[in-house]
Amino acid sequence: MRLVILGGPGAGKGTQAELLCSNLSIPLLAVGDILRGAIASETDLGKLAMPYVETGELVPDATMIQFFRQRLLLWDVFNGWVLEGYPRTAFQAEELDFLLFDLGQELDWAIWLKVPTEVLLSRSSDRSRSDDSPEILQRRLDLFEEQTLPILDYYEHRNKLLTVNGDQPPEKVQQDIVKVVSSY
Ligand code: AMP
Repeated sequence: MRLVILGGPGAGKGTQAELLCSNLSIPLLAVGDILRGAIASETDLGKLAMPYVETGELVPDATMIQFFRQRLLLWDVFNGWVLEGYPRTAFQAEELDFLLFDLGQELDWAIWLKVPTEVLLSRSSDRSRSDDSPEILQRRLDLFEEQTLPILDYYEHRNKLLTVNGDQPPEKVQQDIVKVVSSY
């Protein structure tokens, strides 16, 4: 099964993606963690990504797609994956589809964790991470509204969008995701 998890900053994407991976026994590709890991170990990807991650801007598309082109060829993700943090724009969603087509793969579902903006704000400001200053948080929310919401239309038009209420206790959200994914 190949799944994308969509949601704003603080929507619970990371938690839900991890639970889903253990429930479905498939690997997780968490883009934010991958980028932070690459920066910490000073790889080529890390060097390219660092100025963007530090300021909360999106890493350029060409860098991201080149990374996935190599990453999705590795054996551990051959039978499926859960992608968290990518795509973040409709352009990235389209690029991902092109790439999957080239690789002879297809996305099964995009799961949208629907959470009201006020809840996103209060959850995000409770988190403490070095790239989580108030300005960066606001910038991420702005980017999310401008760039991520159009992805929903993209997947909706392709009948790939599954919406789940993300404003519930994490276990309940997970139950709902598993239910909706297994009902197709
Ligand atoms: P996250 O932990 O998912 O909030 O991601 C942390 C940072 O990684 C973001 O602020 C961006 O700088 C970068 N990043 C994560 N996902 C993407 C993406 N899909 N495209 C470009 N940059 C990304």
